[in-house]
Parts: sequence; C-alpha cells; structure tokens
Amino acid sequence: MFDGPPPDTVPAPPPPARRGRTLRAAAELIAAGLLPEAARAEAEAVAARYAVAVTPAVRRLMDPADPADPIARQYLPDAAELRTAPGETADPTADAPFTPVKGVVHRYPDRALLKPLLACPVYCRFCFRREAVGPDGGVLSEAELDAALDWFERTPSVREAILTGGDPLMLSPRRLARIVERLSAVPHIEIVRLHSRVPVADPGRVTPALVRALESDRAVFLCVHANHAREFSPEALEALARLRRGGAASLLGQSVLLRGVNDSADALEALFRAMLAARVKPYYLHQLDRAPGTARFEVPIAEGRALLRELRGRVSGLAWPTYVLDSPDGGGKAPLGPDFARFEGGEWRVDAPLRRAAAADAPGPG
Ligand SMILES: *Cc1c(COP(=O)(O)O)cnc(C)c1O
Ligand code: SF4
Repeated sequence: MFDGPPPDTVPAPPPPARRGRTLRAAAELIAAGLLPEAARAEAEAVAARYAVAVTPAVRRLMDPADPADPIARQYLPDAAELRTAPGETADPTADAPFTPVKGVVHRYPDRALLKPLLACPVYCRFCFRREAVGPDGGVLSEAELDAALDWFERTPSVREAILTGGDPLMLSPRRLARIVERLSAVPHIEIVRLHSRVPVADPGRVTPALVRALESDRAVFLCVHANHAREFSPEALEALARLRRGGAASLLGQSVLLRGVNDSADALEALFRAMLAARVKPYYLHQLDRAPGTARFEVPIAEGRALLRELRGRVSGLAWPTYVLDSPDGGGKAPLGPDFARFEGGEWRVDAPLRRAAAADAPGPG
C-alpha cells in the first residue's frame, strides 16, 4: 500500500472545474504561459483599469509560440492601453447623450439599443465600450429593466429592439427569455436583434435553454462578433449550429478592422469565408472606434478601403460586409466605401472590379 501515485506515472488531468476556468488576473495569464513573468507589473496595472477575461475556448485558440498571434492580441493586456492618444474618448460613439432611460440608447427613429448588462464572456482590448463593460455591476435591476422595457412599449416609432451590452447571451436563459417575450408582445416591435461574442468566445454557454430563450414570433437576428477565421473553431461551429437548428435567429456577422488581427486582404478573405461556411452572413466591418488606449489596433480608413477594394470580385458577393464608421458625434454609422463609381465629365464612370486599375484607393492618410 502507498499514499498517492508512484512518482513516475503521468499526472492525472486536472478536474473539469479547474480545466474550465476563465483567466482574469495577470498572475493567471502568466501561470498559463500566455504572458511572460516580465510583463507582470504592467499587466496588473492594465487589469486594474480594464477588465480582462480569457475563456478556456479562447485560450485553446491561442498559439503561445507565436509572438504575433492574432487571437492573443485581441485579449491579452498590453501596457499601451494605459496611454490615451489624442482623439480617444471614453464614449467614442456618443451613447450617453442618446440615453432616454438607463440601459437604452435611442439614436435612430426606428430602432434602439437595450443594454441589460455590461458583462462579456471575454474582454476585447479594442472594445469601444471598454470604460463601461466589466464583470461587476452594470446589470439592470428588475425595476430598471422594467422601466427600460416600458420605454420600448411607449415609443411606437421603434420597430427594432437591439440587445447589446455587454453581451446579452451572458444573461441566464430565464432572464433572456423574459426580455425577448416581453419585447415580442409589444405590437410595434417587428425585429429583436442581439449582438454577441458568446458563440465564438464561450460556445459552451449556447445551451438548448439559451437557444429556446430566443424563440419569438417576431424576426430575430443574432449578430455574431468575430474578427479572425480561427475563431470559427469546431466548438463555435457546433454552437452556431445549435442556434440555427433552434430556428429562432437568422445569423449575421460583425467584425472590427484591427491592426495585427485581420489587416490584410488574405485575413479578411479567410474571415468572411469562414463566416459564410458557418452560415453567418457578414453584415458590418467596423472602423475602430477611438476608445482610450486602443491606438495600436487602428488601421487608417484609406487602407481599409483599399483592402475591401482588393476583395471585390475575388470573394462571393455574399462575403461582402458594409465597412462603417460610427460617428464620434453620435450621428450614426456611415458607410466608408470603397465606391466603384464616380461622376466625371458629365457621366458616371464605373471601376468594374474585374478590370480595374490597381491602387485607386492607395493607402494614404486615414
Ligand atoms: C449601431 C447602432 C444601431 C444599429 O445600427 P444598424 O445600422 O441598424 O446596425 C442602433 N442604435 C444605435 C444607438 C447604434 O449605435
Ligand atoms: S464582446 Fe463586445 S462589448 Fe464585450 S469587450 Fe468585446 S467588443 Fe466590448
């Protein structure tokens, strides 16, 4: 008889609870081999300022051997986040002035955002709401949620309720079902839309109960945030298939154009092809919003236009998103092109994608 295993056996795998933990502290990222020991002080300072979370699913997508890993770059804290560049602001899309009641943003006449909570499965280092999102707080109380839903009921110009946050798929299935049910009972609401990173960042959260919570007799759209082809892992594809088979939601994709993540025509092509193969229709490619400490991700607009121009004709028209900038003054999302037609010498000239001259949108000042 002996206590414990003999010293030369392979150690047992950690229990599932440990294996499945989301990493949040700098020390945990270092222990997991995702950050070097030398980065400890800076990573702690960043984590004290902006929420950090790396789910087990996202950690499995990372390649710690690649110093330029496009997955790690989206999630691992970096000292550059503590420097605010000129033009960066805490509310870069000006949501605050358009908030009639807590948790609602009403900018366009026919649609409004509902932010029932501010937690996300992961915290993206480039997030435009980084000054607001985080694991603590930000959940609307029952009374606040009621007041927000009342606002939708008494605002008949609003035909579309857009659940965002934070990430609405972080709600419990029961709470999410109640919100979807209550919105679906409002006569003038025709569309319920949700924006979420959960299917790619924490696919295990997409349980049958969560899928059922999206059931509605209204049109339901789920817009999945993903920025790199690798995010469409086998687990993510299964989560998306559960959502699709559930039948409630039509799937759309949204991405942010990010330096070091998807800033080449090849990376964007792979991303949009991966989305379509997952039956997710690319909807928006966002120009980076200037939130504090995000400058290392910025790709100038001229370069973004040139990248998309390169893709036109090369990939299926289904793969083509609208490239947009959310106006910093709160004026809404403006398409940034590229455009293929101009009025010249009294007539319209068209740059047909398959016979265009190169460099019509050569990169220049953004
Ligand atoms: C982005 C946004 C929407 C949705 O805009 P679409 O162009 O319809 O996707 C709606 N309301 C607000 C306040 C927004 O910021
Ligand atoms: S999932 Fe969306 S809201 Fe949440 S941190 Fe990432 S970009 Fe921000």
